[in-house]
Amino acid sequence: MFLAKVLTLFPEAFPGLLGHSVVGRALQQGKWQLAVVNIRDFATDKHRTVDDTPYGGGAGMVLKPEVVAAAIRQAKAGGVAHVVYLGPAGQRFTQAHARRLAALEQPLVLLCGHYEGVDQRVLETEVDEVLSIGDYVLSGGEVAAQVVLDATVRLLPGVLGGDASLHEESFDLIDPETQEPLVEYPHYTRPAVWEGQAVPAVLQGGNHAEIAKWRLAQARARTAALKT
Ligand code: SAM
Repeated sequence: MFLAKVLTLFPEAFPGLLGHSVVGRALQQGKWQLAVVNIRDFATDKHRTVDDTPYGGGAGMVLKPEVVAAAIRQAKAGGVAHVVYLGPAGQRFTQAHARRLAALEQPLVLLCGHYEGVDQRVLETEVDEVLSIGDYVLSGGEVAAQVVLDATVRLLPGVLGGDASLHEESFDLIDPETQEPLVEYPHYTRPAVWEGQAVPAVLQGGNHAEIAKWRLAQARARTAALKT
């Protein structure tokens, strides 16, 4: 069973979007589990302090190493876990990361930072990898954790209806000639003509070989356009 443990200063932000739609249904059906841990519970002083000023000066506050380390260590609970810190300085999260995380046998621990981030020493000793969801700065790791979990959980066996829908989605769709990942072809539904725009004739024709050829060409063109 896929188990995600999210370490956050804002536990009320979860399940958030993860409680809805396909991923939320899978959560309710017990196809994956989510544990949310309040980092503040690991503060040791009477004010429940979790942050302090940065060495070297500068604006903002930094999450204290002993507090974050205690939260991670409890999440590992003496066993093995894969610990990911969500941070803008990490590797860009891709579908390949989602596939790898979905195949984990040990619990996935997601550490959400806040303020200026987390003391570097904890990242070096307690974290297996740092993942970024893009080249911009969020206020906290919670949105990023939900992005990572949404993309990961939908790849778990039994979460989406049919396997075909997975293979044909962006990045899981592979060019049969180059073996490169492609983004998906466009979709259309009824009516056949909407506000003067007709659905491409090939999709209405019922020739499956022609449809497959058209879709591959569209996917290649869209993928190439993204690279320019
Ligand atoms: N001082 C940090 C920097 O410049 O790299 C930014 C800290 S940010 C205001 C607060 C928290 O949001 C981070 O600790 C991290 O957990 C999260 N975060 C911000 N941007 C992110 C991104 N692009 N991907 C993943 N997490 C992000």
